Amino acid sequence: MKKIFKIITLLILILLIITITYLYKNPKIAVLCYHNIATEAEKQNYPDEADWIITTQNFKEQLDYLKKNNYKTLTMDEFYKWKTGLLDLPYKSVLITFDDGFLSNYEYAFKLLKEYNMNATVFVVGSFIENSTNNIWEGNVKTYMTKDILSNIEKEYPNIEIYSHSYNLHYQGAINQDKNVLAQDINKFNNFYKETNVYCYPFGQYNDNMKNALKECGYKLAFKYGPNKNDYKKASRNDDAFEIPRLNVSHGMNIFKFALRLLMYN
Ligand SMILES: [Zn+2]
Repeated sequence: MKKIFKIITLLILILLIITITYLYKNPKIAVLCYHNIATEAEKQNYPDEADWIITTQNFKEQLDYLKKNNYKTLTMDEFYKWKTGLLDLPYKSVLITFDDGFLSNYEYAFKLLKEYNMNATVFVVGSFIENSTNNIWEGNVKTYMTKDILSNIEKEYPNIEIYSHSYNLHYQGAINQDKNVLAQDINKFNNFYKETNVYCYPFGQYNDNMKNALKECGYKLAFKYGPNKNDYKKASRNDDAFEIPRLNVSHGMNIFKFALRLLMYN
């Protein structure tokens, strides 16, 4: 009986060592994906947009959780260096990302992030920014940041980075075009804002044609969004650099679920 007990203990120990070694050698990082942010009242005014809106209160709770638990919020450079094996990061690291470039990000999120000393990335659509104007005010939820605001961010919020969500490919099926058309759009974003090499696929849609266009334009990373439930997972060093998965927290997530999701390995 004693012998069996000893063998079982030894087996458990070996299994534990194998598991820990595996986890240590295959680190993963949560890339959080947000879209819009609004007060509870604003969110209620736009029920159709609910999937894309986190309330200011919920967002603050999540940042509080990250802060209290000593999470490191990454810059894109840190994430890239980690991805390519040049940098090791603590298990408690996250990359915070926003899609589309809503004005609400500037109005609510950036101030809070700065106050908390946290970094974040925003993927903006060039044409949305160029067509946006402070004069046509449709409320925070429906308005995009303007070009002036984009240049203000550089001065006011050094913790916020801006990258491409295309210049004008933010519509369903945009990727089914000739590679030259895609490449033109990619370069147009770089002329509109600044030379960038990080992309986020509109609607999470991508194919080899799109990936090749990005590579030919000198891009080094591209982020996904879904499309399936299983695709919302943490990023690993083994991922294709042009298919980086993210976790979707766009609609908000209660703090218990949020904490649990971050603790999960995958
Ligand atoms: Zn988008």
